[in-house]
Amino acid sequence: MLDASVKQLLRHNAGLVLWLTGAGISAESGIPTFRGKEGYWRVGSDNYRPEEIATMSAFCEMPDEVWAWYLYRRGVCRAAEPNAAHRALVRAERRAGDGFLLVTQNVDGLHLRAGNTPDRTYQIHGNIDFMRCSKECLPAPVPMPAGIDSAWDKGRPLTEHERKLLKCPSCGATARPHVLWFDESYDEANFRFQSSIEAARNASLVIVVGTTGATSLPMHIGTIAAQRGVPMLVVNPEPNPFSELVRRTGSGAFLTGTAGAWVPHLVDALPAR
Ligand code: NAD
Repeated sequence: MLDASVKQLLRHNAGLVLWLTGAGISAESGIPTFRGKEGYWRVGSDNYRPEEIATMSAFCEMPDEVWAWYLYRRGVCRAAEPNAAHRALVRAERRAGDGFLLVTQNVDGLHLRAGNTPDRTYQIHGNIDFMRCSKECLPAPVPMPAGIDSAWDKGRPLTEHERKLLKCPSCGATARPHVLWFDESYDEANFRFQSSIEAARNASLVIVVGTTGATSLPMHIGTIAAQRGVPMLVVNPEPNPFSELVRRTGSGAFLTGTAGAWVPHLVDALPAR
């Protein structure tokens, strides 16, 4: 299935392979991406797009409705299982050790649940199964309280009891989902910003799976790789800004299709260390 030039690129790679994943890698686990109809959320008679509801300003204006959206999405993520592409990335890490690094935009936690290690998995947009203090008093995010149902019907409002549970366990301020919102900035402490840039500067191969490239850090990683002349493999059913980078630099390949179809073959073609 892999053509000779892609096989060659993988076989002869002796350095750091940086994998960059987005919502598309979890689509085959049944988790909708943001682009489909499922991405929309209704509050009263209004429809909100993710770019509107996944924001600090929406949270300030309607915290219960934003929490309900996240708890519903958390339920979808908790019910999903890692797929063949997630499992392949666990094999890739076991074989390559420090020659492997995974930067994921996904908040579903499926890479970690599949078996990738937290040290080599940067969840640059957070993890939906965690919350943190809205006043940032906690040193690290905490798991969602046990009293919050992990299955959540679409549109179900919070009860008074649940509202009380969604507080910072240390200072009692409102807790917020541990995710990066569209109107917020990356940092190192919560989202491994500098470490991700560092990885892009050190990688000898970048493999981008299932992302539109609509957020800034992933595109920054792609641009750094392109400027350094590092080859990039891009897996997506549709062209995107990363495949455009490959077209412009002529270094790497655009592999049209799904993560499940390509990723296991890519991993199997990498050299064992
Ligand atoms: P996106 O929804 O903007 O784009 C998804 C991409 O995946 C598209 O390019 C699409 O063509 C591709 N795709 C669809 N099915 C695929 C498949 N089977 N295999 C490979 N690719 C496939 O998602 P994004 O680029 O990751 O970024 C937007 C934001 O969405 C991120 O901040 C992320 O946190 C959030 N998000 C996360 C999840 C999740 O955690 N699973 C789900 C939805 C959105």
